[in-house]
Amino acid sequence: MGPTVYNLINDYPSISLMYSFNNIPFSNSFASLGEVFFSPIAPTPFRSPAHMVHFNIDAAELLGLDPASKVEPALLAFLSGQSLPPGAKPLAMLYAGHQFGHLVPQLGDGRAIMLGETTTPSGERWELQLKGCGLTPYSRNGDGRAVLRSTIREYLCSEAMHGLGIPTTRALAMVGSHDVVYRETLETGAMLTRLAPSHIRFGSFEVFYYRNQFEHIKTLADYVIAHHYPALAAESNPYQVLLKEVIARTARLIAQWQSVGFTHGVMNSDNMSILGLTLDYGPFGFMEAYEPGYICNHSDHEGRYAFDQQTETGLFNLSCLAQALLPLLDEQAEQGAEWAKSTLSEYPALFVEHYAGLMRAKLGLQEATIEDQSLVQDLLDLMQANRVDYTILFRKLSGFSSGSGLRFTNPSYNPRDLFINQEGFDAWAERYAARLKKENSNDAERRTRMNQVNPKYILRNYLAEIAIRKAEDKQDYTEIDILFTLLQRPFDEQIEFEAYAGHPPGWAGDIAVSCSS
Ligand code: AMP
Ligand code: MG
Repeated sequence: MGPTVYNLINDYPSISLMYSFNNIPFSNSFASLGEVFFSPIAPTPFRSPAHMVHFNIDAAELLGLDPASKVEPALLAFLSGQSLPPGAKPLAMLYAGHQFGHLVPQLGDGRAIMLGETTTPSGERWELQLKGCGLTPYSRNGDGRAVLRSTIREYLCSEAMHGLGIPTTRALAMVGSHDVVYRETLETGAMLTRLAPSHIRFGSFEVFYYRNQFEHIKTLADYVIAHHYPALAAESNPYQVLLKEVIARTARLIAQWQSVGFTHGVMNSDNMSILGLTLDYGPFGFMEAYEPGYICNHSDHEGRYAFDQQTETGLFNLSCLAQALLPLLDEQAEQGAEWAKSTLSEYPALFVEHYAGLMRAKLGLQEATIEDQSLVQDLLDLMQANRVDYTILFRKLSGFSSGSGLRFTNPSYNPRDLFINQEGFDAWAERYAARLKKENSNDAERRTRMNQVNPKYILRNYLAEIAIRKAEDKQDYTEIDILFTLLQRPFDEQIEFEAYAGHPPGWAGDIAVSCSS
């Protein structure tokens, strides 16, 4: 007998390169700024047992988390605020904000707690926040909770926006509970694990401006530059360039919203990200029948945050940020203000440049010409007059033939029937054909390009509502999973889900989405 009785070869524990929450590298650099910027506070777990509603495997992989940990009870404990990952320093961030045009000198995370940040295998930093995890010093009259309904909406929409290629916070998971939460009706509490490189808002700067604590504005701006805009550190006045960069990112973000028909609903300056991300999903809505004055937030009686107000509101919010950064822009207040004004005045042109580019791409145009603006506007006007669904129209338009024969050879890609005034659409189609000919547009290539920018699937309110009702009534989360998977690839045909690409049913018009969440 030789020593081969013990076969150690291939009998050693497997090495996982993936982390679990127990060993994920976790720290909190924001906490090191000091307590003028936040209040340390731990999450308050639910009174009832928590359960997993959905777990975002893609986001887990992004963080280097082992997707298999999805079923571990320890993970549920972290995601429901029962235990903290090692290295976490839970805190609620302080901010102010202009809400519906009025300054609120102190707000802050009233129901969200930032645990810290992790660095992904590819070197990206992501902050983790629990939303709906109990009272903080900034909860004011709120209960610190989030209901399942609004949590599902934020979870699905942030993934849908990511799928559309629009900068946004992400979500790692959502957990549910049997805790009763009082809104217009009795609902149940849920928690979302939100991810962003940073949750710092325009309002995070405003709070110190109105307290005359200018040194804290500088500390915060330096932190943002060091962690998120490192290239600016070498500038002679990095704060000027920071403002310029945020203006550019915000202009691009809002152009992207407009191009897919997204309305945020509560564009207060405390809901505007310093990184140009879509942040704080509340009563948002994707436009269906094209209506520029579309208001998705039923509490917004004046239509301040209507679809066609978003571009200007973006500028209003940027001017709130510029005001708060004023002490850093120039030693001479007057010169700083002049600089800010002239930089803000670049926003409209930046917006138009992005928006025009996106709309041209939606029409499959590759060259820019002077007539494009009226071509787009006249189509939008026709859509408005005929109450044509924004998403369906642009998707079908990819079936357009620019030759001399039939305009739409595939009947299921013919949008003509969407118009009551079909002759009006025909006249527009002839202009479009002439325009395409001018740049020798190839139909097949254009179709491919258009289908990569005109989504087939968006998060329609009624789709979210069906998923919410199933989840609330039966704890059935299958519809959430279907929508989640579908909306990760909004440009793909996914013909098995054809029904999700159609017009909303009649009852969809009765869904009211308010601020209460
Ligand atoms: P929002 O417009 O939803 O982004 O919220 C505005 C402010 O109200 C923020 O400071 C939130 O943290 C706070 N807030 C919203 N809902 C609640 C709640 N249920 N409990 C405590 N604070 C809340
Ligand atoms: Mg908010």
